[in-house]
Amino acid sequence: MKSVKHWIDGALADGDTSRTGELYNPATGEVSGSVAMASAADVDAAVAAAVAAFPAWRDASLVKRAQVLFRFRELMYAHRDELAAFISSEHGKVHSDALGEVARGLEVVEFACGIPHLLKGGFSEGVSTRVDSYSIRQPLGVVAGITPFNFPAMVPMWMYPIAIACGNAFVLKPSEKDPSASLLMARLWQEAGLPDGVFNVVQGDKVAVDRLLEHPDVRAVSFVGSTPIAKYVYETGTAHGKRVQALGGAKNHMLVLPDADLDLVADSAVSAGFGSAGERCMAISVVLAVDPVGDELVQKIVERVERLTIGPGDDPASEMGPLVTAAHRDKVASYLDLGVEEGAKLVVDGRETPVAGGGKAAETPGFWLGPTVLDHVPVGSRTHTEEIFGPVLSIVRVGSYEEGLEIINGGEYGNGTAIFTNDGGAARRFQNQVEVGMVGINVPIPVPMAFYSFGGWKASLFGDTHVHGAEGVHFYTRGKVVTSRWLDPSHGGVNLGFPTNK
Ligand code: NAD
Repeated sequence: MKSVKHWIDGALADGDTSRTGELYNPATGEVSGSVAMASAADVDAAVAAAVAAFPAWRDASLVKRAQVLFRFRELMYAHRDELAAFISSEHGKVHSDALGEVARGLEVVEFACGIPHLLKGGFSEGVSTRVDSYSIRQPLGVVAGITPFNFPAMVPMWMYPIAIACGNAFVLKPSEKDPSASLLMARLWQEAGLPDGVFNVVQGDKVAVDRLLEHPDVRAVSFVGSTPIAKYVYETGTAHGKRVQALGGAKNHMLVLPDADLDLVADSAVSAGFGSAGERCMAISVVLAVDPVGDELVQKIVERVERLTIGPGDDPASEMGPLVTAAHRDKVASYLDLGVEEGAKLVVDGRETPVAGGGKAAETPGFWLGPTVLDHVPVGSRTHTEEIFGPVLSIVRVGSYEEGLEIINGGEYGNGTAIFTNDGGAARRFQNQVEVGMVGINVPIPVPMAFYSFGGWKASLFGDTHVHGAEGVHFYTRGKVVTSRWLDPSHGGVNLGFPTNK
């Protein structure tokens, strides 16, 4: 049985051993190990290590920081299979999908390797007589990242490569459901030459989160998780004077216009709805089918869903794995009966899906639920509006583009959305009118590249700054403007007037 610990000041740390959590293999339902649960004192130890490491790291040259990042990138790439195996064994997602999240995370490391360019300031010569002005951006100090279970490598990598490249010291609090990836990443940072204490990991739950939120030495907090916790983190962190970006939940709609290529739409809806068992904040969970395409589209979706192979994440034949915990599987499965009670038609029942090496999903040990399709889901029903975060695709029939747009804009969340059409004018209208942070046009999961920023609108983001890209650099630094005068020849003289440009 494995025992997952903290990583503080360049070494594994037991911390307070009075509280631990259980780790599971979601494919079998068996306990696979335990994870430490940090006390407030453990968090204090990690923050103290970061505080001590910060001054030297802040003063390391940009070139030196970039060199460490390049080495980290190479090590992460070399260990990607090992990392993916950890993810798959604790999260349940299939190995190829876990490799995909590592690859997308590495893009942020690659972006951060360009830190000498990203931190170039502005310089204006001669803003007044013999006076120059220039702007610089400096690191904040100790910053923290609190991350969800669904991307145990990629979501932390949205944060720490840029934070560290900017010269900060970082404390990561990963999800207690799949914590092993964080320790491999910590070891690789050390191997890459990052000084001890610049990257620390505290395992745990609310106790650790609350201490990070109130700790006076933590300057900024990046959070990704569900909306209620994102709101709590934002409110608590800012009340303690911290800079906070808190990304929340989602309910992403795909709007299908009648002129769309329905085979492309069906492929996209199935890929985006059931990849990673729907446990993605950018998953498509609602298809808005504009009349008259609904019946034909549902038929094409069902054909594809019935061909999917459901099985353990470490089996190369599996296309979709189990859900993360029994409790989460039960919650997701409860929407199947609820959907029917609310008036939807259960077209594919994921409880009946055969699991490779087992029986029906509902009867196989492990946290299984197959891909489920609910058609004619009523607008505004709980099945339509609530984040289910599992392999449940709802089809909502709508009469027009306008009706579809109104449904999307009327929703609580604003993370991702997509329109499928061959009409460029309609697509352009959509990108302009839709109240969502990330928009796909014939692209079902429009996750921005590392050099753009990732983030939603409305209840999908609390704070002003999205993650990575230019906004990430901005979040982890603060600006300073210097105005300098070198007198030639040197002379003085008192002047109480406000400095103006002469
Ligand atoms: P979660 O909110 O339960 O947990 C996220 C983090 O908060 C974890 O580290 C957890 O330990 C901590 N936490 C949980 N309860 C807490 C509490 N009461 N007080 C303080 N901290 C607490 O989320 P999850 O179930 O791990 O992840 C799934 C959620 O994350 C979904 O809602 C999904 O949409 C969202 N998500 C959003 C994005 C995005 O970019 N917007 C990306 C990935 C996941």
